[in-house]
Amino acid sequence: MATITSVNPYTGSEIETFTTHTKTEITQLLEKANDQFYTWRETTFSERKKRMIAAASELKKNKQEYAETMTLEIGKPISQSIAEIEKCAWLCEYYAENAEEQLKDEVIKTDAYKSYTSFEPLGVVLAVMPWNYPFWQVFRFAVPALMAGNIGVLKHASNVFGSALNIEKVFSNAGFPKHCFTTLLIGSKEVEAIIENPIIKAVTLTGSGPAGAAVAATAGAQIKKSVLELGGNNALVVFNDCDMDKTIATCVQARYQNTGQSCIAGKRLLVSEAISEEFIEKLLLKVRELKSGDPMDPDTFIGTLAREDLAITIEEQVQKSLKQGAKLELGGNRQGAYFEPTVLSNVSEKMAVFAEETFGPVLSVTTFKDVDEAIALSNNSRFGLGVSLFTKDIEAAEKMAFCFEEGAVFINELVKSDPRLPFGGVKESGYGRELSEHGIKEFLNKKTIYIN
Ligand code: NDP
Repeated sequence: MATITSVNPYTGSEIETFTTHTKTEITQLLEKANDQFYTWRETTFSERKKRMIAAASELKKNKQEYAETMTLEIGKPISQSIAEIEKCAWLCEYYAENAEEQLKDEVIKTDAYKSYTSFEPLGVVLAVMPWNYPFWQVFRFAVPALMAGNIGVLKHASNVFGSALNIEKVFSNAGFPKHCFTTLLIGSKEVEAIIENPIIKAVTLTGSGPAGAAVAATAGAQIKKSVLELGGNNALVVFNDCDMDKTIATCVQARYQNTGQSCIAGKRLLVSEAISEEFIEKLLLKVRELKSGDPMDPDTFIGTLAREDLAITIEEQVQKSLKQGAKLELGGNRQGAYFEPTVLSNVSEKMAVFAEETFGPVLSVTTFKDVDEAIALSNNSRFGLGVSLFTKDIEAAEKMAFCFEEGAVFINELVKSDPRLPFGGVKESGYGRELSEHGIKEFLNKKTIYIN
């Protein structure tokens, strides 16, 4: 019997050992999911809405319990875990209220008596999900999928199986019929065969580039749709006319929330040379104030990274960049899975902390002379998830938005996901969109109906 054990990254102690599903069990669960699809797709929007509202209540009612599991599994500060659960409840309510309108037939005038697009679910969709937002990443997929009449099957990251089972519980406690949403307790080796199973109609993955490429290759070989939400190396572009105090507060939040483990985190600070000295000085004061500690303490803002190997990777990236000539302004030390909030200045484009995604609390600082250089530095990335621009000249910033090779441009705000707005990237950040009307339409048959 194969097992996977979860480990608390803060204490290093084991949390729970899970027996993984066997190949036979996986096949049976997929068949049951497929059977359920033919019933679920017939339900009305009001039936789905009732259950999704119940899922929101279930999340709110049990937010402490679900948040604690998350915090134990990945060392995420408890206040941020609770906020994540609350955001999932908002997402449930958003799609409960809007899915019917978003998916109503789209009448298109042609020479037919009547012609329109009808939006029909595809069937069973597989989600391969990461550990950094154990609830949010899954809900972002599952809520629109279920509201559209699809069925969800989850392969969650191997270190968050407790959260994965809690998510299944949320949907079953909310009254979703059995097998509408299934958590498979499996390692990544099983994913290929699951995608190849004819029951699976599409797949979505959030995670690293190599994982995305592997999943997309299998899906492509099977002519199945895939959506990829991969890494990011977002820039925070600070112009010399910014509101400095507000900008610093936003940049600190953008880089250090979730202990820096976010695809949309602002990882590369690009600051106008004219204000860089004062900006860095004030920024360091704010970063020094961030409270590290026990992730279960409500006052903790910086927890541990989700696994020790992730902290070691960050340490290597920092050390390499220092050798390449970066200046250590703050932090830089690791203890087990904990990595200090770190700021490196004097960073140039070839250095590891600029060229690679840093998935932890490390901010790189690079200065620029003018707008053209700022845009070129920001675009010098394999990734294209988002960018934040800080300036009082909104008109100029809005015009400039077109120049950024990104899925999102946020002006005077950190890049964030919002149920009402499309979310996703270009370049190696992936393809497809989640959230909003765009997200719910990813896994649908957009069927043309033509009547003469
Ligand atoms: P992975 O991308 O390896 O893991 C994400 C998910 O993909 C997990 O469920 C994992 O399963 C699964 N997976 C991994 N490899 C394959 C594969 N070949 N085929 C199918 N499924 C696969 O992330 P890591 O935990 O290794 O993190 C490494 C880096 O990835 C981070 O440092 C960060 O740069 C990036 N990342 C980006 C995220 C984002 O939000 N865009 C989220 C997480 C990581 P299992 O856990 O069983 O291996």
